[in-house]
Amino acid sequence: MTPLFPSPDHYLQNLITMTSPEAKRMWRKAIKEHFNCQCVYCGETYELNELTLDHVIPRFNGGQTITRNLVPSCRKCNQNKGTNNWLTWMRQTFGHTPREQLIISHIQ
Ligand SMILES: [Zn+2]
Repeated sequence: MTPLFPSPDHYLQNLITMTSPEAKRMWRKAIKEHFNCQCVYCGETYELNELTLDHVIPRFNGGQTITRNLVPSCRKCNQNKGTNNWLTWMRQTFGHTPREQLIISHIQ
């Protein structure tokens, strides 16, 4: 399994890879693997390349592109969530689920 670091730069600093695009690729893969290739919102399992990374706090609202703000999401959930507050949207869409806690511990 790819180790999970806070940003692509950490893969370069730890000499896990030598190039920036590869660092970014490994980082994105590590985030997906960390969540067992499941969409954190609907809980379905996907292939690595079917999952997108969702900004929990949307970039539109000042959310950063760092590990703590990125979770694997299927395209459908990513699109439906849009710029909504993640918890409000998730409860409206799926009710209360244990997956909320997964996200909360990841973004802290
Ligand atoms: Zn989903």
